[in-house]
Amino acid sequence: MERETKCIHAGYTPGNGESRMIPIVQSTTFKYDSSEDMGKLFDLEANGYFYTRLANPTNDYVAKKICELEGGSAAMLTSSGQAATFYAVFNICGAGDHVVSSSTIYGGSYNLFAVTMKRMGIEFTFVDPDCSDEELEAAFRPNTKAVFGETLANPALIVFDIERFAKAAHSHGVPLIIDNTFATPINCRPIEWGADIVTHSTTKYMDGHDASVGGCIVDSGKFDWFAHADKFPGLTTPDESYHGVVYAEKFGLEGAFITKATAQLMRDLGSIQAPMNAYLINLGLESLHVRMERHCANAQKVAEFLEAHENVTWVNYPGLPGNKYYERAQKYMPKGTCGVISFGVKGGRPAAEKFMGKLKVAMIATHVADAHTCILHPASATHRQMNDEELIAAGVGPDLVRLSVGIENVNDIIADLEQALEF
Ligand SMILES: *Cc1c(COP(=O)(O)O)cnc(C)c1O
Repeated sequence: MERETKCIHAGYTPGNGESRMIPIVQSTTFKYDSSEDMGKLFDLEANGYFYTRLANPTNDYVAKKICELEGGSAAMLTSSGQAATFYAVFNICGAGDHVVSSSTIYGGSYNLFAVTMKRMGIEFTFVDPDCSDEELEAAFRPNTKAVFGETLANPALIVFDIERFAKAAHSHGVPLIIDNTFATPINCRPIEWGADIVTHSTTKYMDGHDASVGGCIVDSGKFDWFAHADKFPGLTTPDESYHGVVYAEKFGLEGAFITKATAQLMRDLGSIQAPMNAYLINLGLESLHVRMERHCANAQKVAEFLEAHENVTWVNYPGLPGNKYYERAQKYMPKGTCGVISFGVKGGRPAAEKFMGKLKVAMIATHVADAHTCILHPASATHRQMNDEELIAAGVGPDLVRLSVGIENVNDIIADLEQALEF
């Protein structure tokens, strides 16, 4: 099946007389005929559900769809994109470990790494995604356990060189984790370029309608945990909390990562997606391919309009031929990047605020990447905890305005911007 067909059909095939849509299994718990049946589930000897804090069938239908879209081997939903990022890293890192991360990542991921996970004893080295090979090499330490990057940085729109970072990660015996939220598997499939684990905030294009917060982790099933067994004892040595199961042995390379994240992290931390929200994500996924095409087409026209406008100082959109990342975007995302554009308004911070106040179609919202056109000034919102130096290192200058182009008629979006830019 092609991706478009998977958006509709993957993950759930109704049997004779069964519901056409995925059922919402709104139940905390599941019934068994014998204690022995249930015991097998607790021993991870049998597949099945017992408590929705760990897993739920509705979630699994949707995770399976995203897994097939990404070309992975196993996947799980989480309650948010933040939970997906945290679980993906924490599943293989603990106190005393180290991670190499791109410096141009979503503000929430940066905070999670630099502040909260640091407090848990995990160190992060942030590298410029366009750093030299020497700088990248120097970032690795003997206790490095993973490399993290974002396909298309939110909001800097830097196109990450997945292949290059995958090679570097693998030469040090660690997996590459890629946040593929902005590109979606419609426009880029990081696993095909060497990524080992893919994360998503499904809150963005996947849901696409401002309806539900959620996340997803997809494992490629390709990383050989046993080849670097000393680095990943959590996957290659017995888990005493599950009667000594060795995840990479029992569930193979295809299943180990997600089974461990479900059995340990969901069990202990419980950031599970609500089944009702999983149902909503699935509705979004059914039109993801159609919406992404329109988001990209609209954003391209809007970017061209902004580039030609006298009150716009600069425009950053990887679909513009003059963009620093145009070539790389053509390589990794030949069908288009996403609907998000950043630009500078002539007159800096005060002019940007005035311009935003005049908009009627584009709404001021922290949200991005959904059907509605939204606009935001990151320096005073999502990235406000960073000082100017950190903002520039993260690729988000103080004058940057982030525009998330929706799927309205593009002429209405452009007319709105045009009237607001008159000053
Ligand atoms: C929004 C976002 C996240 C966090 O996701 P939530 O669903 O808001 O928790 C992570 N990564 C990227 C790229 C995002 O845009």
